[in-house]
Amino acid sequence: MARRITIFGATGSIGENTVDLLTRQGGATEYDVVALTGGRNVARLAEQARALRADIAVTAHEDCYDDLKAALAGSGVEVAAGPQALAEAADRPADWIMSAIVGAAGLVPGMRALRHGTTLALANKESLVTAGPLLLATAAQQGARILPVDSEHSAIFQALVGEEIEAVERIVITASGGAFRDWPIEALKNATPEQASSHPNWAMGQRITVDSASMFNKALELIETKEYFGIDPDRIEAVVHPESLIHALVGFRDGAIMAHVGPPDMRHAIGYALNWPDRRDLPVARLDLVQIGQLNFRPACEARWPALRLAREVMRAGGLTGAAFNAAKEAALDAFLARQIGFTQMAEVVEAVLDQLSGDSVLTNSPESLEKVLETDHLARQAAAEIVRGLEQ
Ligand code: NAD
Ligand code: MG
Repeated sequence: MARRITIFGATGSIGENTVDLLTRQGGATEYDVVALTGGRNVARLAEQARALRADIAVTAHEDCYDDLKAALAGSGVEVAAGPQALAEAADRPADWIMSAIVGAAGLVPGMRALRHGTTLALANKESLVTAGPLLLATAAQQGARILPVDSEHSAIFQALVGEEIEAVERIVITASGGAFRDWPIEALKNATPEQASSHPNWAMGQRITVDSASMFNKALELIETKEYFGIDPDRIEAVVHPESLIHALVGFRDGAIMAHVGPPDMRHAIGYALNWPDRRDLPVARLDLVQIGQLNFRPACEARWPALRLAREVMRAGGLTGAAFNAAKEAALDAFLARQIGFTQMAEVVEAVLDQLSGDSVLTNSPESLEKVLETDHLARQAAAEIVRGLEQ
């Protein structure tokens, strides 16, 4: 039987790369594509659904239903819209689901997929940051597998094949440093959304690109590493590596370090998760080491990137702190993109939200239910909105 595939966030950067690989590996003749989901880009979603002969296409927005319906007229592809329809798409039996919605919105479909025991290829790092223990417990209960797709975590996962986690002494994830790695720190407060939206090495969605400039992306990834691999936070480090060729390094107790090296192309990590446990030919560039010549590393400075310091606090506190951190970060990012606050104020907003909510001991409780996580997410967004209003005056 053909492998049944669903993609959440098919029209985004990770989603398009997933569609590209599926197409190269035989598309509708090799795979049974169940559901594809997207946002407002219904023309592209319809195109993908036709090409891959999906059973259903779902847009997250109810007001996009008619356009999607029209775009798929005569195709035989079912159409649905809205958050409820999105969650229901995860109930359709599938063998492999790509979770590539951006933000905490990716959590519910991913959880639903795991409840059915489906293998979840997880690009949506926010799921692990907001509800790591819940996600892993659900996967364990259902015998479902979570395959990391974030490049650093795919790299760690690959370095650990055949190893015992007890033998790991430390994990190092690399950061390009983002758009402003060479800017004077004083200039950062005047950085614009346009300037923050260009990445030196990777082509990605806008939100993660800005998060790379602020290092909130790396902050999320440090937490993601702790949650997914169950490593003590003191053993996890981030280092700036401007070339983005080494994605992560795993140091073992005998002093050996395994590094994962490859071009900055997400199709490697996506393809690895798609074909796991096999390896297949992938259309990524092959590195010419002599031409590269040298690899550079610099400290990931917490004065330049306070998000990294906040990540340490979140990892130490645990519980629902990750859900609050991520939601505050998303709200601060929205405010920055809307020019309500400056670039460096994003970290100030997040820190203020954490300070405000940490007075409430509930935050350190383990996330025992999805409802608790969503409630914390909501509280943090409210707190962030209030703090943003205060800064604007
Ligand atoms: P993107 O913005 O390019 O695409 C996001 C997708 O999610 C789109 O299909 C969009 O329509 C959909 N979407 C957005 N908001 C939604 C909502 N509220 N409800 C339902 N659908 C919604 O994002 P991306 O860069 O592809 O990133 C996707 C995820 O993968 C993020 O969690 C990101 O951190 C992670 N990731 C991305 C990369 C990368 O190279 N782009 C690398 C590692 C991890
Ligand atoms: Mg990454």
